[in-house]
Amino acid sequence: MKLDLSEIARTPGAYTEHDIDMTFKEVEGMTLTQPVRGKLYASSTGRVLLLEGAVDTEVEQVCSRCGGIYRQPVHAEFQEDFVINPTMVPGKGPRIEEDEEAPESRLFYEGTLDLNLDELLRQSILVALPFKPLCADDCQGLCPRCGHRLSEGPCPCPPEGGDPRLAVLQRLLEERKRQP
Ligand SMILES: [Zn+2]
Ligand SMILES: [Zn+2]
Repeated sequence: MKLDLSEIARTPGAYTEHDIDMTFKEVEGMTLTQPVRGKLYASSTGRVLLLEGAVDTEVEQVCSRCGGIYRQPVHAEFQEDFVINPTMVPGKGPRIEEDEEAPESRLFYEGTLDLNLDELLRQSILVALPFKPLCADDCQGLCPRCGHRLSEGPCPCPPEGGDPRLAVLQRLLEERKRQP
């Protein structure tokens, strides 16, 4: 999705809203199972162009507890400002460059500028993903003995400490530890 924000950028106090409705197949190898929808707000002080907004989507994630694939709803917010450079660069088209003096912002050269939103949205979606993805808050994970995914039902393993052979072994080990 491309936006021409040059008119906003050069008008101090200007403000616009845009609907975002995009489809990404994937972000960093993760499948998006819903479109990316939300709002973008652009405003200008004449010196700085500020882009803010939020989008919602859904990303396929691997549960960190059980390894199952599930769909994670994602609400991603973004805010980015660009320093507007008032001088046109002769012979060169509109562009955005890194600002070496203020690495946090980027230079916005006046002219007809089509801002490509993809990268901004991809980054904000990545940042909004949970650090430890869980398919459910109470995900039971895997059986430590057979590796069965416990959210799919109980496995045939006996309950913890229920194996009499293990209990005998445990007792032997403890007795050995007590011996001098
Ligand atoms: Zn899980
Ligand atoms: Zn088991």
